[in-house]
Amino acid sequence: RQELYRELRSKPSTSKDGVHIDLLMNAGLAVDLPQLADSGAAGIGLFRTELQFMVAATFPRAEAQERLYRDVLDIARGKPVTFRTIDIGGDKVLPYFKGAGQEENPALGWRAVRLTLDRPGLLRTQMRALLRAAGGHELKVMLPMVTELGEVAQAREIIDREVRHLSRFGHLLPTSLKIGAMLEVPSLLFQLDELMEAVDFVSVGSNDLFQFVMATDRGNSQLADRFDPLSVPFLRVLRRIVEAGKRANRPVTLCGELAGKPISAMALVGLGYRSISMSPASIGPVKAMLTELPVGELTAFIDENLAGNSARLPMRALLQTFADDR
Ligand code: PEP
Ligand code: MG
Repeated sequence: RQELYRELRSKPSTSKDGVHIDLLMNAGLAVDLPQLADSGAAGIGLFRTELQFMVAATFPRAEAQERLYRDVLDIARGKPVTFRTIDIGGDKVLPYFKGAGQEENPALGWRAVRLTLDRPGLLRTQMRALLRAAGGHELKVMLPMVTELGEVAQAREIIDREVRHLSRFGHLLPTSLKIGAMLEVPSLLFQLDELMEAVDFVSVGSNDLFQFVMATDRGNSQLADRFDPLSVPFLRVLRRIVEAGKRANRPVTLCGELAGKPISAMALVGLGYRSISMSPASIGPVKAMLTELPVGELTAFIDENLAGNSARLPMRALLQTFADDR
């Protein structure tokens, strides 16, 4: 298998019937970066910037942030990178930062973009570091845990101010700046068309989205086998998102753990996802699956089985049979 994955590394990530899928990797620290070449990923779909904060003894200084972002872009050598602004709180606590995570319901609490909008100095410093590091490059930044569109507008104001500031002082700016939202909170499902208008791209954080749609703690091992992301309701949610992206001509990626398991990556492609981001070790197995996948046939199969509500086998079993038969 390892040999096969190595062989596939330089091959295009294209399905049996010629559909190209961008296979991106998730990363968060400098030590992850060599995996970009080793895995054959087309880019970094999720760079978790909070990891630098989590391994530090105190808030990383602006210079340290800028240095890391510069290294990432240097090593990516023109492959696309999507930086996520710090996603602190919930399951990601900083011992030196009181308040976040020490709540009754941390998953529903003061975290991610909520926290950085309340402490705009954190977002300003990070954005300045990103903008400086990406001078002369494309820059893609996404906001975690967006719940309402006002948060995107507020973040944009802060970002625009940083752009104006750097430009006034003659800094080399990014060649383009794209601002995206992570779709992790179900409220966005009821304003998908407006969301697509408000952002340049969307990335589905399926770990958190599943947790909130199914009211199921993502870290509770007692619940691990209870609810299935490949069940009808969650697949319908995922399909709605990708369809809204198509309507608005906005790129939609998915960067949760779902993307890294061949059977669920297969389902995502069948639902219409053309870009997915996963841990680097999953790129080989997912690409191997993809090269044998007839996407057209799968899409028809999924459409048929997601429609209506007559009694049938669970979707996971149906998808597994589809995969085994091919
Ligand atoms: C997610 O929630 O799916 C995601 C990609 O973000 P994280 O796992 O870092 O919360
Ligand atoms: Mg998340």
